[in-house]
Amino acid sequence: MTTKIKRIGVLTSGGDAPGMNAALRAVVRAAAYTSLECVAIYRGYQGLIENDVKLMNARSVNNIINKGGTILKSARCLEFRTPDGRKRAFENIKKNNIDALVVIGGDGSFTGAMIFQSEFGIPVIGIPGTIDNDIYGTTRTIGYDTALNTVIEAIDKIRDTAISHNRLFFVEVMGRDAGHIALNAGIGAGAEEILIPEEDMGLDRLLESLKHSEKSGKSSSIVVIAEGDKTGKNVFEIAQYVEKNMPYYEVRVSVLGHMQRGGSPSCYDRVLASRMGVFAVESLLEGQSNVMVGVSNDKMILTPLAKAIKGKSKIDKNLIRVSDILTV
Ligand code: ADP
Repeated sequence: MTTKIKRIGVLTSGGDAPGMNAALRAVVRAAAYTSLECVAIYRGYQGLIENDVKLMNARSVNNIINKGGTILKSARCLEFRTPDGRKRAFENIKKNNIDALVVIGGDGSFTGAMIFQSEFGIPVIGIPGTIDNDIYGTTRTIGYDTALNTVIEAIDKIRDTAISHNRLFFVEVMGRDAGHIALNAGIGAGAEEILIPEEDMGLDRLLESLKHSEKSGKSSSIVVIAEGDKTGKNVFEIAQYVEKNMPYYEVRVSVLGHMQRGGSPSCYDRVLASRMGVFAVESLLEGQSNVMVGVSNDKMILTPLAKAIKGKSKIDKNLIRVSDILTV
């Protein structure tokens, strides 16, 4: 038997992503629109364990749609991984009369939500917020589009300095397990080569390709490398290897790092976050639980959390071909 939902809780957890605030705003306002009460939980599961909560209303989320990061703050919470920690969290769920929980985060946060749901029966729903776009059950995660725009803007600037000298730039972008950012931003920024975790290009092929470009008249080039590139070498090791074999280039390395997570969310991410937040509240009210909201063919869909966590979000291999063709 399901209890009627009167009050929902919402938190942001795990790695932050631009657009999380827009998602929070949408959840709070959709709750207000449907006459639900909404409690915000600060610092993810840590705040749930410590009862760091605040009752929200439609006006509590004014002027945040354009803000990066998360005003609720995010945290990695070791205690929530223990039965004891989750028991304390559930005591606060009861104390605050929270009937259902909205979790904005990545697959780690969803794993925690799923376990919590199975132990205490509280309805949970996930909203995918991560710049990596590596979650099964949605073609886009909140924050990914903004991160892509941040990366191409940075590479455009690097290109200016690269062409002023005969420089070969190696740019490392985020993506330990997924090459979405590297592949898409790489094409968007006109990179010469793109190295990703999903495909092993091999250093010799990279060298061959750069030599070919150099022979065809290119005096500078940009190579985009995902953190978790399949060669198993980091950006500095790859750059060193190439420098040794191509002495006529000045080789430089640029690690974009955490700037990729920040900044005002793009329009796409704001709209996506708004749609997902509204859909999450509506789905809870329809009795859905243990699912994640996602977008597919521009429609809102639901995927069981278990599937979203286990499934692999695949890169579009056709993009590799497109990149190869365009660097002729
Ligand atoms: P993300 O959600 O971005 O993938 P994490 O993997 O750090 O980030 O997960 C965020 C939080 O979710 C963790 O700090 C922890 O509190 C909770 N969590 C992750 N995995 C589990 C798990 N197996 N059991 C319980 N809680 C978990």
